[in-house]
Amino acid sequence: MDLKRWALGGALLISAGTLANCSQIFEATGAGGEGITTAMLVGADGDGANWISHGRTYSEQRYSPLDAVNRENVGQLGLAWYADMDTARGQEATPLVIDGKLYLTTAWSKVKAFDATTGKPLWEYDPKVPGETAVKACCDVVNRGLAAWGDKLFFGTLDGRLIALNRDTGAVAWEKVTVDQSKSYTITGAPRVIDGKVIIGNGGAEFGVRGFVAAYDANSGEQLWKFYTVPEGGDPKDAPAYLQKAAETWNMDVLGASDAIGGGGTVWDSMAYDPDLDLLYIGVGNGSPWNRAYRSPGKDGTGEGDNLYLSSIVAVRPKTGEYVWHYQTTPGETWDYTATQHIMLADMEIDGAMRKVLMQAPKNGFFYVIDRETGKFLSAKPYVSVNWATGIDPKTGRPIENPETRVDKTGKPAVVTPGALGGHNWHPMAYSPTENLVYIPAFEAGMMYAPEADWKPDTARGFNVGFNLGAGDLPPDGGFRKQVAGTLKGMLVAWDPVAQKPRWTVEHPGPWNGGLLATGGGLVFQGTTGSEFNAYDAANGKKLWSFAAQTGVVAPPVTYTVNGEQYVAVLAGWGGAYALSVDGDLINRKAPVRNISRLLVFKLGGAAKLPPEPALADLPLDPPPSTAAPEVIAVGQLKYGRYCAVCHAPGAVGSTVLPDLRRAGSLESAAAWNAVVEGGALKDNGMASFKGSLTKQEIEAIRAYVIKRANEDKAIEGTKRVARK
Ligand code: CA
Repeated sequence: MDLKRWALGGALLISAGTLANCSQIFEATGAGGEGITTAMLVGADGDGANWISHGRTYSEQRYSPLDAVNRENVGQLGLAWYADMDTARGQEATPLVIDGKLYLTTAWSKVKAFDATTGKPLWEYDPKVPGETAVKACCDVVNRGLAAWGDKLFFGTLDGRLIALNRDTGAVAWEKVTVDQSKSYTITGAPRVIDGKVIIGNGGAEFGVRGFVAAYDANSGEQLWKFYTVPEGGDPKDAPAYLQKAAETWNMDVLGASDAIGGGGTVWDSMAYDPDLDLLYIGVGNGSPWNRAYRSPGKDGTGEGDNLYLSSIVAVRPKTGEYVWHYQTTPGETWDYTATQHIMLADMEIDGAMRKVLMQAPKNGFFYVIDRETGKFLSAKPYVSVNWATGIDPKTGRPIENPETRVDKTGKPAVVTPGALGGHNWHPMAYSPTENLVYIPAFEAGMMYAPEADWKPDTARGFNVGFNLGAGDLPPDGGFRKQVAGTLKGMLVAWDPVAQKPRWTVEHPGPWNGGLLATGGGLVFQGTTGSEFNAYDAANGKKLWSFAAQTGVVAPPVTYTVNGEQYVAVLAGWGGAYALSVDGDLINRKAPVRNISRLLVFKLGGAAKLPPEPALADLPLDPPPSTAAPEVIAVGQLKYGRYCAVCHAPGAVGSTVLPDLRRAGSLESAAAWNAVVEGGALKDNGMASFKGSLTKQEIEAIRAYVIKRANEDKAIEGTKRVARK
């Protein structure tokens, strides 16, 4: 882009208050020369040609004013080019587009650069994340994207590094380890840059870590500040005031008493920034462990306390990391109800007054509108079916809980909606200022929470949540399974944030559909579980265009122009938490959802063709006979739930992303099985050794359990067509 001309155009489009702010920043950083500047990031809304930060603008609206592709002509949209990825895991990234070049991250934290018009590869960078890091990741080895500043690009790696690359060459400018790598921290989220500070959080709240977000100097990689979201445990007298306040809401004797009770509260995805208020908003995750009775027990052993700042939106000063305000969506969370979901800023008229609001549809199923100057609760209504609370008290902003679902207190299992994957997960929403609608990639998938009796943390590895994740296994009954699959719902909800109700809804074949893009052409773009990439009318949800993507699409699209021609790009490839946890052959009810990882780029009249879709294979289930004693199988089931289910699916039903253990060759031989699970024979592929967490007997019990499950499913399934590799 013409930088001088753009800076002027951008400046004209931003408010007077912001402009004053910008001129100060110009002086402070000496920006205005090469590369991405604060003025560009603040004025990104006026730069339709490019997509220079994760949510396109600091407000994270994912709305592009581009209208060359619109309601009238979207039927002529065709494939301009595509690029196959060299990973076959979940693809969740938002590409950045700067001056006709497209940059993206893929699974395993790799980075690739392309000519945005032709697809010609320009460079690629592989940070060589060790394969066994996968065991630290709750939700696939995904990465959601890059940040740009000056002549550099920034991204986090699964093993906790923050890396700066030269944008022209892909050469490493600096690299910094941001986490204690002896613990199960991972980075999957995209950094943001504010005034030359690169802000990045991390994940790991299923594995006992203590959450934080930190800022690094964009030029040197030096750490500038670090903001913890939960107290350290023990005596808080030397902690900052906001953590002393938080300490009153925790059992401080238990918190931090073990490496596996770090409290959680990880900042693994959403951030937004208001340059006028100079506030950075961060979304804070769930408690670690989930079960509050183990995380923060009261006198009678049941869970106690709000446990700040879990499941909260927190406003901090980006210069210093100073706490300003918080709003907690789920006090005393115990269901994995993160508030890390997309945070979006907008100004809108509510009850006759213009309000600066912050909006979020966190996992807990309520859509929140918050005053972003003060953190004051304005309104909330359920955007999906919810049974854990009957509503939010408008005076206190606190949920009105259903005691039947307060599983940490009762100790009794309960089926709760939403489940641990939420009513909405990381998949970005989008906003249309002309319709004043927020588009939500929502879904319904309840879950049974069965507190694990006498749970003990494992400080080394495994899902440390305090619930028995094997307890909700479905019985080996094909009809019943189809029935349960039939209760799973996925939908695109067009939500009116003022009226707090849907204006229209599009049903999808199942949960876990793609992130969203809204455009000035009156369109909403979304990929689906049904392996389509679609365009809908932003006003009424009418499907106007559809492309057969051959794969589930979960990532959000972007749009840009080069030489005046508009493109729409989306990274396709099925994966992530839900994809790993369900029977991939059942979810969309027509055909297995497969992973074909590929960047798809469209333009009007595009005439490129994808290669033919690979054929499905007939793969009979052919396990050895199940001969183990029931008590051995029971041990195997419990251990499988804790150590295996999160990647290989509850009940060992097998996803379409990772190996189906019921079909594993090593099932035939105790020695071969042990070589993988204890010996780490496949660690470079992502299957770490579980030595130290599982005994030889337990490893053999897991094999017995999987053999039993395979025989049950053989009886109900017979041979079916599957998409597994
Ligand atoms: Ca979680």
